[in-house]
Amino acid sequence: MKLSNITEVSRRGRQLLHSSSKSLSTRALAGDIQLGSVYHGFQVTKIKDVPDFDLTAIQLKHEVTGADYLHIAKNDTNNVFTVGFQTTPLDSTGVPHILEHTTLCGSEKYPVRDPFFKMLNRSMSTFMNALTGSDLTMYPFSTENPTDFNNLFSVYMDAVFHPLLRKLDFKQEGWRLEHEIPSDTSTPIIFKGVVYNEMKGVFSDVNNIYLTRLQQAMYPGTTYGNVSGGDPVNITDLTYEQLVAFHRKFYHPSNAKFVTYGNFPLLERLAAVDKIITPFGRIQTEPIKDVVPFSTPRRVSASCSPDAMGNPEKQCKLSISYLTNDGTDPFETFAVRMLATLLTDGPSSPMYRALIESNIGSDYAASTGYDRTAKMTNFSVGLQGISKNDFSLVEEKIKQVFLQVIQDGFEPSRVESAIHQLELGIRHRRGNFGMGLAQNAIQNWVHGGEPIDALDVTKFIARLRNELNTPGFFEDRIKKYFLENQHQVIFTMEPTPTFAAEVQNEETQRLQNKIAALSEADKKEIVEDGAKLVTMQETKEDPSCLPTLTLADVPVKGKVYPVSVLETENGIPLHYRKTATNGISYVTLTKSLEGLNPDLVKYMPLYSSALTSLGTNETPSVPKLDDKIRLNTSGISASPSLRPTPTNTTSSLHSTISFGTSFLDTKAAQAYPLFSEVIQGPTTTFSDETRERLRTVIAGMAANGMDSLAGSGHRYAVGLCSADLTPAARGKQAWSGLDSVVFLNKLHEKGDAGVEECFGKIGEISRFIVGSPDVKGMVVAGEAVLDVNRESFGKLTRGLGWNQKASDSNSITKDFVRMYKNTFVPLPFTVNYAGRAYLGVPYTHQDSPALQILGELMTSHFLHREVREKGGAYGGFSGYNAFDGLFSMASYRDPPGAGKRTVDAFNRAAKWGAEITKHLGERELNEAKLSILSGLDTPISASQEGMTLYATGLTDEIRQARRELILGASLDKVQQVAQEYIASQSFSQAVLGPASEGLEAEGWTVLDMQK
Ligand SMILES: [Zn+2]
Repeated sequence: MKLSNITEVSRRGRQLLHSSSKSLSTRALAGDIQLGSVYHGFQVTKIKDVPDFDLTAIQLKHEVTGADYLHIAKNDTNNVFTVGFQTTPLDSTGVPHILEHTTLCGSEKYPVRDPFFKMLNRSMSTFMNALTGSDLTMYPFSTENPTDFNNLFSVYMDAVFHPLLRKLDFKQEGWRLEHEIPSDTSTPIIFKGVVYNEMKGVFSDVNNIYLTRLQQAMYPGTTYGNVSGGDPVNITDLTYEQLVAFHRKFYHPSNAKFVTYGNFPLLERLAAVDKIITPFGRIQTEPIKDVVPFSTPRRVSASCSPDAMGNPEKQCKLSISYLTNDGTDPFETFAVRMLATLLTDGPSSPMYRALIESNIGSDYAASTGYDRTAKMTNFSVGLQGISKNDFSLVEEKIKQVFLQVIQDGFEPSRVESAIHQLELGIRHRRGNFGMGLAQNAIQNWVHGGEPIDALDVTKFIARLRNELNTPGFFEDRIKKYFLENQHQVIFTMEPTPTFAAEVQNEETQRLQNKIAALSEADKKEIVEDGAKLVTMQETKEDPSCLPTLTLADVPVKGKVYPVSVLETENGIPLHYRKTATNGISYVTLTKSLEGLNPDLVKYMPLYSSALTSLGTNETPSVPKLDDKIRLNTSGISASPSLRPTPTNTTSSLHSTISFGTSFLDTKAAQAYPLFSEVIQGPTTTFSDETRERLRTVIAGMAANGMDSLAGSGHRYAVGLCSADLTPAARGKQAWSGLDSVVFLNKLHEKGDAGVEECFGKIGEISRFIVGSPDVKGMVVAGEAVLDVNRESFGKLTRGLGWNQKASDSNSITKDFVRMYKNTFVPLPFTVNYAGRAYLGVPYTHQDSPALQILGELMTSHFLHREVREKGGAYGGFSGYNAFDGLFSMASYRDPPGAGKRTVDAFNRAAKWGAEITKHLGERELNEAKLSILSGLDTPISASQEGMTLYATGLTDEIRQARRELILGASLDKVQQVAQEYIASQSFSQAVLGPASEGLEAEGWTVLDMQK
């Protein structure tokens, strides 16, 4: 399950209450817990302080059931709970995935469908999900509110240990045969089911096919050799009885791992868990089976659909994967991860130089890197976007790199820069730190390792530095794991024009076989169950059995992050957010793009990438520049932004570019000059090397665009129709929408001419940016480095002659013409994505909060049911982007042919909204408010504190006013805005999907990307 949502700007405004003050020891937080003692049936087996992360870990074992429990005490209010089970299927029917779904179809105490989805509206959770992996299934949530924690705990525990697992739930969520229109037996019988369609969607993405087939080839005969999510070909073999047996075997306390994290008390939680699991007693569990090592390397190939665009001769992929170390050895894992980083990461790495710079392909293959999914880890490296003729060349180059590194070793500065990056990663304070930690700990634990030993990073770094003194540390590992390793898979993938048809034929054949085997009784059951499911989907459920927070639990006052505006000595405004950052300074420098030639706008993303990948005039060598950046900063990036103002979305447009970096406070003297060097623009010399590097950038971006189109088609569909409605949305289309994917692919196809054209445009953009004197800045850092940052920022800007305060005024675009269109974009997908956009109001308009509530209500009470549950899409949702002033509806991974039906559901959604007071009441309204506010209050990373104000001009007062309008909105108000802005308004809509959708016949404009 994945809880999709349309992104909304308000979520960026999340604020944080806690700070990781070190005054309260985590030992004190952990309470007076003694090693060996028993608390509520749990015996303490280990207590460990981890100073790097300022936490104390306590491991316990439940005496009756054998359940494992890990508590991580840390002074963090964003508390986490996770229960995970080792789930190791013996086939690819997707049984663990279907179980994960059916577990959430109601439990003994809470007999309602989709309790997670319903709890989203009854909780202030900062994260809720359920995840199925190759060898485990876990159910994590996080929240800052103690009552909420108890509520969610109760729902989660009942769902996993006492699910109803009804046969109809299995049919709804897993797979079933059903008439296309259930009530009409003259319509054909087809395969339906949420997971079935979800996995068809997953298998329509070329990279997913690649990664899945590769993993299967690497780990034959083990759980990793099966598709835990389910291979559509095999899903329809699963029976209901097998599902129930799988639950009984694996969702048992003896096979469970519990993790809690944060500042809530442990003993209370132990008592609650003990009470629920004790009655289960103990069963025998089995450790995960390791793969039998190969005696000789294997070659495996797979096929896929051709890309929607691009040179058909260069769409193959090749990688070599090596079985590496046992992931339960934390230092060896640390060492191999470091080796993988040194080999592949960044322009100065040897694999990058040999594979990417050679321009044989467009980018690394998706599998590239170190993978710890399985207990026996693997390292993979390869290329995509290559010609079949280059297969042996790529193989050869990979092997040469290993030989060369053994001969030359890694430069000490590269090793240092990799260590430096690790240190920065440890110190960076993230809002969701505990969630990542809990998930990693469970994975390690399921593999049989110690759950938190991997956190001893400082110890590992010291040991690494020490062992590097004796030669051969990395060289020996290259020999052992790569050159002399027989357990390797040389995996290739080629597109075949008939791939989609073959997939379709296989399904047709399988369907026919199933239908042929049906008895009269079976057919009768299909009709009956179809009718029952429709009734079930349409029954309005009463979720009042579920626990809930009320609005009274939500603070009226939103979280705020005061920012002071200082001035540098040359008069430049510097926004300063003083906060605990563990010794890191986060610096942003922003320049206006007002007046930039409109023809250059579409090259902005290329400019941003080129900044650090072409070299500078001062450091023309890209590897040298890359080394300098990694040794002194966490990286330097540029991001262009287009936005309306909080008071005007229809004709205002503010365009800026922000450069960002962060570094250890102790590195300020090196980081600022480097930052200055990079933002002065890439090299102005068009050498052969520059040409090849730029070709690499273009190819990589074109390939990434195609990949994200397949994975996030809904975002592109919504972006495409939003572009018809406001100047900002139209501008964004040019650099992050469908237009940019088309533009980059065409530029790539132009070859040398495209590269030359692009280089010229990047130069123009660079001259424009350097040539305009206006600038403003933002620093998030501790108080102690305030003066250093102010002086350095002043020096940087003065040195560049930037002595003018950036204007916050906006250009008014008078020539923007709004359009209302229906656009169909045929793509070689096996699923489709629909999107629709309506023009709303500016952020500060008093109707804006009600539109946001409408989006929330329409998702939970209409589109989720109509598009996901009835329509068979993976997701159906609506949302209001308050900052852009746009209301949208979308579907995610709809079954083929669903385009028209989904568009019809959108029409009905608009009508439903216009009479919402007939359908919903006060309870649903309050739930929607709770959900929105919990989004606003989600903890954020240190680097993001104060950024909303800086980037958008939304003051604490404006945001507080909006918060109060959300709290006070009535359902009548929501109905009024639905009538005014949705039901009675024109809209633009778009569908991206298979050519066979048939929307041309309905008068839709067809946008052919190939042309
Ligand atoms: Zn799923």
